[in-house]
Amino acid sequence: MKVFILLRWFFKQERKAYLLGIGILLSVAILQLVPPKIIGIVADEIGARTLTPMGLFGWIILLIITGFILYGLRYYWRIYIFGSAVKLAKLLRSDLYTHFTKMSANFYQKKRIGDLMAHATNDIQAVQQTAGAGILTLVDSIATGGFVIIAMATTISWKLTLISLLPMPLIALLTNWYGTKLHKRFRIAQEAFSSLNDKTQESIAGMKVIKTFGQEKENIESFRKQSEDVVQKNINVAKIDSLYDPTISVVVGLSFFLSIGFGAKFVVDGELTIGELIAFNTYLGMLIWPMLAFGWFFNIVERGYASYNRILSLLEEKADVKDTDEAIEMVPQGRIEYAVNRFSYPNSDKVTLENVHFSIKRGQTLGIAGKTGSGKTTILKLLIREFEGFEGVVKIGGVPIQHMKLDSYRRAFGYVPQDHFLFSTTIKENIAFANPDTSMEDIEEAAKIASIHEDILSFPNGYMTVVGERGVSLSGGQKQRISIARALLLDPEILILDDALSSVDAKTEEGILSALKNNRQGKTTIITSHRFSAIQHADLILVIENGKIIEKGTHDELMENRGWYRDMYEQQQLEMEVKRG
Ligand code: ADP
Repeated sequence: MKVFILLRWFFKQERKAYLLGIGILLSVAILQLVPPKIIGIVADEIGARTLTPMGLFGWIILLIITGFILYGLRYYWRIYIFGSAVKLAKLLRSDLYTHFTKMSANFYQKKRIGDLMAHATNDIQAVQQTAGAGILTLVDSIATGGFVIIAMATTISWKLTLISLLPMPLIALLTNWYGTKLHKRFRIAQEAFSSLNDKTQESIAGMKVIKTFGQEKENIESFRKQSEDVVQKNINVAKIDSLYDPTISVVVGLSFFLSIGFGAKFVVDGELTIGELIAFNTYLGMLIWPMLAFGWFFNIVERGYASYNRILSLLEEKADVKDTDEAIEMVPQGRIEYAVNRFSYPNSDKVTLENVHFSIKRGQTLGIAGKTGSGKTTILKLLIREFEGFEGVVKIGGVPIQHMKLDSYRRAFGYVPQDHFLFSTTIKENIAFANPDTSMEDIEEAAKIASIHEDILSFPNGYMTVVGERGVSLSGGQKQRISIARALLLDPEILILDDALSSVDAKTEEGILSALKNNRQGKTTIITSHRFSAIQHADLILVIENGKIIEKGTHDELMENRGWYRDMYEQQQLEMEVKRG
């Protein structure tokens, strides 16, 4: 029941629809008492041989009219109650989605995608059920059940009603017992389903790796086992679930037994007519549904409560990076002064960055070199505020970055990450992602700078070619260049290429770099790469090792330094010459 209290805000909001729905449901509960009564009366008139053709016709017409009215009413309560429940699902879904988009990298690192998907589907469905079928079963079991019992007691015989309802408390006891067991088993089954969800999601995403390592058989086997486990746990749920209906039948059977046995005696004694006994037994049959509904009600509400709590606790998670109250709306511009003394990732003791201090003027290009894992991306992630909580200050144009509202702050950046991501839509839409109304000329211009225009023209539908599953599959280099075009289209104040040229060949890289140089006059560009050709023309180059700057300067200065940079540079030159043959 607690779930109804938690969902009070929604019932208030949809008060009109619920009141109407429940009102109609109550009318149905009352109106459906009419047909058994008519059957009883007709039976008695047959017994007394007083039934005339006209009389019978009248009763039949009344039955038909009742039937039609019930038909209409049943249609409308569904619209009101189930229709509102769908609205609740929509509201929760969009709340969750908005919340997901606000959460930062750290959240996605902690959560498993399969789990999040389960919340967005299964849990929302369970809450929807509570607001729909939950309300229905509650009203129906109380109202229909109550009205039928009242009709039996007041219009036929309160004595027979009492006698035949004697077995009913058994149902309440059993429902309680089943409920507890069911709940436990259901939770275990849900957890197993969640793991299976994760496994499926991971296997599909990692299918290439699985195949490359020839692990298909092992993977299928472990999937089969997990799947079997889910089946077994669901069978355990079904075992309890399937006990419920037969139990109800047995209890109702007992009631029939008592009602016919004692009813027959009452008829013989003249306390009841045959017609009344028939009507009574029809009413008794009508009690089966409210009792089943009662069992379902507990089941639905139990699940709804657990699911709604899971959704609430997810919604309560705060984003790690968020605006302070003093933050101002401002798109940053100007000199970047980066002074991070120390930074560790949340939940990690390792110091990832230490004393990373540098400064570049607006319009300059910064190059960051270093081995994989040295901390290049981390430097950028702090700059674009994907993570916070470092010791030190980072300023742009003299303003500490936390003083600006995230939304406006990020507008200054075009970021092309290492793990570029394209959506399953047309190339045009992928490039125009951040600004769908951009003109075709601008899109083509960006594609030309990113050296991908010619490639796109060679695809079957040019810019309208669909990417991914339903369209062309692109090479890593092509995907990278489309991602670069996407960032370029924004003409951002600060463009960041995070190892974004790793899959393009040296010549293409050169083309892109020189086009960038012309195009980004006066705007800041940051490039990280483990290939030095990409950064050697930068105004400032940082060499990072283990989260520290070990060398810093222009290409010429670093070459004079005779340190790691020069060694690596010469080694790469040699490799390139060997390649050229
Ligand atoms: P690079 O870009 O130079 O390859 P990164 O900045 O990605 O290096 O990584 C630097 C170090 O930080 C690595 O040791 C990596 O394991 C660690 N690291 C990166 N991202 C995270 C994270 N989200 N949580 C914890 N550690 C991380």
